[in-house]
Amino acid sequence: MKAAAFDLASPATLAEASALLAEPTAMAMAGGQSLGPMLNLRLARPGLLVRLAGIEGLAGASEDADAVTIGALVTHAAIADGRAPDPGQGVLARVADGIAYRAVRNRGTIGGSLCHADPAADWVTVLTALGATALTSAGRAILVEDFVTAAFRTVLRPGELLTAVCVPRLRPGARWGYVKACRKPGEFAHAMAAVLLDGEMRLRLVIGATGGRPILLHDEAGIADALAGLDPVAAHIQAVIARRALAQARA
Ligand SMILES: Cc1cc2nc3c(=O)[nH]c(=O)nc-3n(C[C@H](O)[C@H](O)[C@H](O)COP(=O)(O)OP(=O)(O)OC[C@H]3O[C@@H](n4cnc5c(N)ncnc54)[C@H](O)[C@@H]3O)c2cc1C
Repeated sequence: MKAAAFDLASPATLAEASALLAEPTAMAMAGGQSLGPMLNLRLARPGLLVRLAGIEGLAGASEDADAVTIGALVTHAAIADGRAPDPGQGVLARVADGIAYRAVRNRGTIGGSLCHADPAADWVTVLTALGATALTSAGRAILVEDFVTAAFRTVLRPGELLTAVCVPRLRPGARWGYVKACRKPGEFAHAMAAVLLDGEMRLRLVIGATGGRPILLHDEAGIADALAGLDPVAAHIQAVIARRALAQARA
């Protein structure tokens, strides 16, 4: 099947894009790696598609002593290749390199992934573990753990765009782990966990790909309770993956 007919706009500024997106049937398009298939399957039928690719500033990145800020349009490939600043220990590059395969990474963006809020998306889980903040065109700064409210749902309001993601630097002595289970390389994971032990060994354990928003825990004793609502086999696999991510962080 092919996409239903839509109008296309390519704004040059954030203000122009936000104004266009105030139209109820308008949708933003970043890399098109999730939206493209949804259009073709007619799961999304926007009257107007607003391409973000021409908007200056959304594909940049910057860093200071405390954090790195990655523009919403920075691709997974740019991060995997080290063309974006690293908050420490190569964490972002390693995660980006494991997303899908190169053709998807070349176009898919960190912002598109977060806004799409697929429960099995790598960035949704990892950025929650890293304590990252989503920055929006409305001037809001929202912790990623509060940004995704449910599967495919975020707190973005109509016309509001994600502009960047701010990732705090890993503190000296911090450790992290990231493990996911995929049936085939390049496929979405059916279980994943990301762990951050900060410099004082405080734990942020995030279990993803559960079908809902990521589960954030500060104590590994809570794993079994957190997974209690899942099918027993899925819960067992998730618990094994969570413990592997913890072991990786502690190794
Ligand atoms: C074959 C295949 C395998 C994949 N495997 C994985 C995988 O293993 N792990 C993984 O994490 N992902 C995977 N993906 C998804 C991929 O990472 C996409 O890049 C990502 O989900 C969406 O990013 P995008 O830039 O393509 O966004 P788009 O598809 O352009 O947009 C996605 C959604 O986000 C909205 N949006 C985009 N940008 C913004 C913004 N700045 N502000 C507000 N809303 C915005 C759009 O309106 C749309 O609703 C896979 C995709 C494919 C096709």
